[in-house]
This record gives sequence, structure tokens and C-alpha cells, in this order.
Amino acid sequence: MVNKVTTATVIGLNAYEVSVETDVQNGLPAFSVVGLPDTAVNEARDRVRSAVKNSGFSFPNRKIIINLAPADLKKAGTGFDLPIAMGIIIEEGVLEQEVTKDYAFIGELSLNGNLRGVRGILPVVIGLKEIGIKNVIVPSDNVKEAALIDGINVFGAQCLGDVVNHFIESPLKIFKTDADLFLKNSNETFEYDFKDVKGQQKAKRALEIAAAGGHNLLMTGSPGSGKTLMAKCFASILPPLEFSEALELTKIYSICGLLSKEEPLMTKRPFRAVHHTASANGIIGGGSNPMPGEITLAHRGVLFLDEMVEFPRSVLEVLRQPLEDGEIVISRAKHSIKYPAKFMLLGAMNPCPCGYKGDREKQCTCSDFMVNRYLAKLSGPLLDRIDLQINVPRLTAKELLNIDENAESSFEIRKRVIKARQIQAERYKNDNILTNSELTSELVKKYCRIDGASKEIFKSAIVKFGLSGRRYDRILKIARTIADLDNSSEIEQTHLMQALQYKMFDKDDLNG
Ligand SMILES: [Zn+2]
Repeated sequence: MVNKVTTATVIGLNAYEVSVETDVQNGLPAFSVVGLPDTAVNEARDRVRSAVKNSGFSFPNRKIIINLAPADLKKAGTGFDLPIAMGIIIEEGVLEQEVTKDYAFIGELSLNGNLRGVRGILPVVIGLKEIGIKNVIVPSDNVKEAALIDGINVFGAQCLGDVVNHFIESPLKIFKTDADLFLKNSNETFEYDFKDVKGQQKAKRALEIAAAGGHNLLMTGSPGSGKTLMAKCFASILPPLEFSEALELTKIYSICGLLSKEEPLMTKRPFRAVHHTASANGIIGGGSNPMPGEITLAHRGVLFLDEMVEFPRSVLEVLRQPLEDGEIVISRAKHSIKYPAKFMLLGAMNPCPCGYKGDREKQCTCSDFMVNRYLAKLSGPLLDRIDLQINVPRLTAKELLNIDENAESSFEIRKRVIKARQIQAERYKNDNILTNSELTSELVKKYCRIDGASKEIFKSAIVKFGLSGRRYDRILKIARTIADLDNSSEIEQTHLMQALQYKMFDKDDLNG
């Protein structure tokens, strides 16, 4: 008799049903797993054999064939241990196949029969629910995460014995996770706060606009200008995640094994600071068993590239496509995997190799040739995708001493950001986007209209600065965000004038 146990495997961010078919035949003792398993699945044989025996069940001393179907679906990871063990236990007559038919199983077994948590439980449970599975048994370590999903009964088990006993004499309790509670209680405090940043009003304003409209931003300034500190403060003014966004992000962190066991829901927008020595695979995603990279871990949040020109040009260029499409496709021989990558790019850099070009006190020691070679790393097409480009001057000691203002706190700035985001969400509710930065050319025409006088101003700016068509749309999007921060339904001249200030660092300006 062949029995069938249901489980699932994750490819990209989605889970696919896998049937574990177990057949035990008379013949020389053997234990084989077929159906495109990777090494971890193959090693399952040794773990399952020990776990079954050490849990007090008999293990067939015959020829065991496990088939993971469908065969053409790639199966990876250690989550197949539990369904394979269940197939064998059913085959040994401990349980009737019938009692497990509305169930799915996933989990890694240790040699003594304990269950260990696995990666990617959230997408697995979502996938199982979608195919109509009513119950799923997962390792206790994963149960809080699994139970974020409504509409499927989730049980957590400590060991293989618990799972078998669930069907015999001591049923496990259905576990519920209150996702709203996580979101409500999510810690609203942040490590860095704008109230600790003196001066730099223009840069702070640009960061507020970036957060409000989801725009990319590049800060250029000498060492000591505070640009890195301000970048770190940026996380504290981002709007909270919507539940759908939180779930999407949690799926990503789940497959990467980066969730906390106790609080398995991502409740804050990610802020990923990446070092320029990071590998292209680490940033973009990839590897032989493809995993999401930093750009996907920064989904719905921020990717911060400090010392941006120090990154290999090859890495910077690969960012162009996800910046445009909001996703990354990783191609493999047999299949390609798509990961979401809607992040805000936040860059910081020195204006020249020595760092002091344009500084009011220190002398720049770089030749024009050195400066040009340095800036050449940032290609025009990449810069074209960065809506806001600002210069952050270093404040002199005297200036710093003279600032006695109480700088505005991140909390206050964030309130305005949230308001502006709400206006955008309402305006774009039928357009399938959330922020101004996502407007297509078509939608810019629809939502970023300006009056005749503003058009004249814009025309002369285009001539003066030699703006490209792409730039034109970007400036209108920023003007739209400034208007939203101002709670103005129309883009007025003042909004457009402000938006024009942030285009200053086209490459030619930097060189000039
Ligand atoms: Zn220099």
C-alpha cells in the first residue's frame, strides 16, 4: 500500500503543495527518496530513521521508497523530515491514513525525535491555506509565526510523539497569534532621532519629503557634515507598515530565517545599511540555492548605501532594474525566481576623493581628473533614478555653537509624513500604488497638473539646467509630495519652486 502525506515547499516567496508518497515493499532493507530532492532532503533519511526509532515506533526493516511529488518541483530544506516520518508511521499501521487526510505537516526532526523550527513557515502556511488544507502541524518553534494566518488550524508540536499522539489520545490545541496586537504594541522608539541633529534644515526637509513620497535620495557632503547620522535618523520618520505590507515583509524574513521566535511579525519598515564590500549576491540576491539579497530585505523600507561611490560600478548598475521595476528576477538554468524589491534608495557620498571639495574651511586637494574619475562611478541613468539630490554642507564650529534651537523631534516629523502618505493612499486607491514615487508617466499627467504660470517657470528651468524628460517627471512627483505635505490638492508655484531645488546635483553640476 502506498500512503500519501501532504506538505509544501517554498520557491521564491510562494509555497507549492508537495505529496510525500511512502511505499514499503518486501526486499533488502533500503531507504530511498526520489523526486528532485536536494542534499538536506536526502539527509532526511538518517534523521527520520533515528527519530522514528527513538520516539518508540518500529521502523520497517524492508525496502522503503519515498516519492516527493510532483517530481519536477525543486524541493529544498529540512521541513520534509516530519511528513516523511508520518508516512512511515502510517505504513507501520500506527495510524490510519484516513485520520491525517485533512492535515499537512512540516518540520525538521532531531535524532531523538524532537521537532526543530524551519525557515519559510509563513509562506508555507499561506500556500497550504490557499489549496484548501484545513489543519497544519508545525514545530513549536514556528507556531507563533504560522498562526499569523487566519482560516487554517495551526498546531505546534514539540516532538514526533506529540504529533502521532494528536491523532490517538491527546489532541494538540489550536494556536492563535493576535497579529493586531503585534502591530499595536510595535515599539515606536528608535535608536536615532532628528532632535539630536543640529541645524541642517534643508537636508532634514529633503529627508522628510523622501519619506513622505517614497523618493530615493542622495546626500553629498564632507566628512563631519552629519549625513550618516541623518541617514540613520531616517528610519524614525518612516510611516508604520500596513498589515498587508507587514505580512509580505514577514514572508521574506521567514524564508531567510531572520524572524524572532517570540515576535514573528515584521512591524517596522526595514533599514538596511549595506557596506561597499558586500558581494553582489548579498546585495542583489542569488546563490546556488537562491536567497533574497539586501534589496529584498529592504522591501517597503530603506536601502542605505554609505560612501556610495565606493561600491563596485557593477553592483550599482544592477540596482537600476529593481529601482525601476520594484522587483528582481534571479535567473537559474531551470527556472527563475522573482523577489519583491520596492525599496527607497538612500545614498551618501563625499563630493571628491579627499572629501572637502566645496568645503568652506578645508582645502580640497584633488585634481579635476581625480574628481571626475571619482564621480564617473555614478552613471547618469542611475542618478536619473534618484529623485532628490542634496548637498549637505559641513557646519563650522562657530555655526554649531550658535545654534540654540530645539531641533524638531522625529515624532513630529513623522506625523506629517503619515498624513501625506494617507493623502496619497486615498488618491491612488484605484491605481494600485501607494506613493508619489511610483507614479508612471501616464499617472504623472493625470495627478501632477500645474497651471500656466508654473509651466513657464518649469520651461525656463528645463532650458537653464538642461533637464531630461525623465527628470521632468521626477520633479513633478517631488512637487506633488511637497504639495501633499502642505495638504494642498493643487501643485502650486511654491511647491514646484521647492522641488526644483533638489535637482541640483545632476552630474554636470557636481563636476562644475
Ligand atoms: Zn577633494
